[in-house]
Amino acid sequence: MGEPLLTVENLKKHFPIESGIFGRAAGHIKAVDGVSFTVHEGETLGLVGESGCGKSTTGRMILRLIEPTDGRIVFAGKEMTKLPKRELREIRKDIQMIFQDPFASLNPRHTVERIIEEPMIVHKLGGKKERKRRVKELLEVVGLDSYHAKRYPHQFSGGQRQRIGIARALAVNPKLIIADEPVSALDVSVQSQVLNLLSDLQEQFSLTFLFIAHDLSVVHHFSDRVGVMYLGQIVELAASDQLYDDPKHPYTQALLSAVPVPDPDSEKEKMILSGDVPSPADPPKGCVFHNRCPMAMDKCKAVKPKLAAIDDGRLAACHLYH
Ligand code: SF4
Repeated sequence: MGEPLLTVENLKKHFPIESGIFGRAAGHIKAVDGVSFTVHEGETLGLVGESGCGKSTTGRMILRLIEPTDGRIVFAGKEMTKLPKRELREIRKDIQMIFQDPFASLNPRHTVERIIEEPMIVHKLGGKKERKRRVKELLEVVGLDSYHAKRYPHQFSGGQRQRIGIARALAVNPKLIIADEPVSALDVSVQSQVLNLLSDLQEQFSLTFLFIAHDLSVVHHFSDRVGVMYLGQIVELAASDQLYDDPKHPYTQALLSAVPVPDPDSEKEKMILSGDVPSPADPPKGCVFHNRCPMAMDKCKAVKPKLAAIDDGRLAACHLYH
């Protein structure tokens, strides 16, 4: 594993719930509640969980698109949470984002050339001629043709638009790419083409990825390690194969058992969770998963399990293993 590139420590985002005409905070939605992980150079860390688990908010806080309530974000040795605006802008060049909906994230009034060129203009990279040359080069890198530069986003398919989004992210030679559900808006047949492209680019440009998705099979395919999130917290973090072959946390087991298996004779037992995901405004005491966990014990209702290493070295937040 390479050197740590990004370290997130005890990251929190609590959104106030305002009430009454004075807008006083009547409580907080704990969207992210104490998340810690490290992403090493050249690796892909997957963050997976159901909608509302806090994975996208975590990604946006790293870029400071959302201000954290608490915690530390250290990128390439610099603490992002303490950087003045000018330095933050510098660092933003090194962290780029690929969004879920390529159509919504590309300006419909701009040509593809302008869209891909924009980050270079913002970060004052190269003259006009140099930028145009780079746009053509990037279009080829992502599998499009240079004549596409003069077209507009609506003239492309969903998969092609995501390729444009990827070219834009690559334009400023980033060190880290945060890919937030990059293929979930695409047809299944196109998803694997885009994933293969991302894999190739990672190898070609030694990229580091934080890959956020709700689809476990997509994350497995693409990640070296995977963190599973539930109600704003990481409940298990392990090497990708380790997690998929032998999930330890009951929530990971439930998530995996819900993934359809191609083999109809598979012996895999389905683990159906009872109850709904509790509100992040009022998360359960003790283990946040206890009201749905088939293995819950008395202790689980009172004591919050720490995310700590278990016998095989992975991290799990569960009293069954500590
Ligand atoms: Fe289930 Fe208890 Fe483990 Fe939480 S700590 S996942 S409730 S067994």
